[in-house]
Amino acid sequence: MNYCQFCPASINPTEIVLENSLCSFLQNESAVSAGSGLIIPRAHTETVFDLRPEEWRATLDLLGHVKQHLDSQHHPRPQSKFSE
Ligand SMILES: [Zn+2]
Repeated sequence: MNYCQFCPASINPTEIVLENSLCSFLQNESAVSAGSGLIIPRAHTETVFDLRPEEWRATLDLLGHVKQHLDSQHHPRPQSKFSE
């Protein structure tokens, strides 16, 4: 199997801010905008469309946690209903 810059072995663990069993949210100091980052699956797939349904669900679940984290850290406005 080929690995890429987003595979777990390539990730700097200090950049992991939040994670669940199937994906991670990464931030680093070179972020263009305050709070920006990446949610990436742990599984390596050729394209995002090759992710399994549970990996999509885990990504969406983590996105909800990331939003709560970013809301508490950066207080962006306006608030959406996603976090309710
Ligand atoms: Zn990969």
